[in-house]
Amino acid sequence: MKVAIVHNKEKKTLEVTERLKTLLSQANIGIDEHKPELVISVGGDGTLLAAFHQFSHALDEVRFLGVHTGHLGFYTDWRDYELEELVDSLLTNREQSVSYPLLKVRVSYLDEKPDQCFFALNESTIKRSNRTMVADVYIKNELFESFRGDGLAVSTPTGSTAYNKSIGGAVIHPSINAFQLAEIASLNNRVFRTLGSPMVIAQDEWVEIRLENTADYLVTIDQLDMPKTNIRSIYYRIAKERIHFASYRHMHFWHRVKDAFISED
Ligand code: NAD
Repeated sequence: MKVAIVHNKEKKTLEVTERLKTLLSQANIGIDEHKPELVISVGGDGTLLAAFHQFSHALDEVRFLGVHTGHLGFYTDWRDYELEELVDSLLTNREQSVSYPLLKVRVSYLDEKPDQCFFALNESTIKRSNRTMVADVYIKNELFESFRGDGLAVSTPTGSTAYNKSIGGAVIHPSINAFQLAEIASLNNRVFRTLGSPMVIAQDEWVEIRLENTADYLVTIDQLDMPKTNIRSIYYRIAKERIHFASYRHMHFWHRVKDAFISED
């Protein structure tokens, strides 16, 4: 098995990474930063998101595993003091994995620039900071509503506990192959009207957000900001590709939610 390690720059993480490298080498597991079968992120959820984007071109070949050096993460199953156990389980449970849905994001531009496609593991947002964002929301090519407000967030089930949750979206179990559209501070009055509730969109449906012709939108895909360009519209749907996690140990989703947001056992 070939392994790549993606880590953040914190002192504790660097120490953990060195220890992990030693244990992997003692177990005859090679490091391959370019064509790995397993990507181990060491850090927090943000580090796992970075690892995902680094290897999103090879989703069919790569499995992910997260070691957290801080608080319990949503994508990081292993604690930094469990490295021996982790390496042992790599040797004994090689075949197990669990997969989660991803969002496919297609951006189309006003000029001749070709469409661009991205995957999001958590979410994609469209915002306008100091002026009202104006956009038409289409579901399956049919105009659903005209949105005015700060912005819109489109999230995956595993991303539903991230930014989506902060703006009042529902938490969705990742076995549900669907995505969620949630509003960020919509303007609702006698003139402007939107649904006002988060919506869960089925896997065979797609959403298009057609922007008013201005260039000052902020579009994010997980922790990445897209450069400000003349975006005409953004299409969202559930991707055929999924993220595969090496499931050497699996934590019950609702247990993880309780642990993170209500109380630790
Ligand atoms: P980061 O690593 O500091 O992450 C920010 C926080 O979000 C951390 O506490 C992290 O554990 C948590 N988080 C990330 N993914 C999560 C998930 N799927 N479920 C529950 N919690 C999750 O910073 P970053 O690298 O910039 O991470 C980017 C992510 O941070 C974005 O995808 C977005 O979801 C989240 N975020 C949230 C808010 C908010 O809640 N107001 C604002 C900005 C970004």
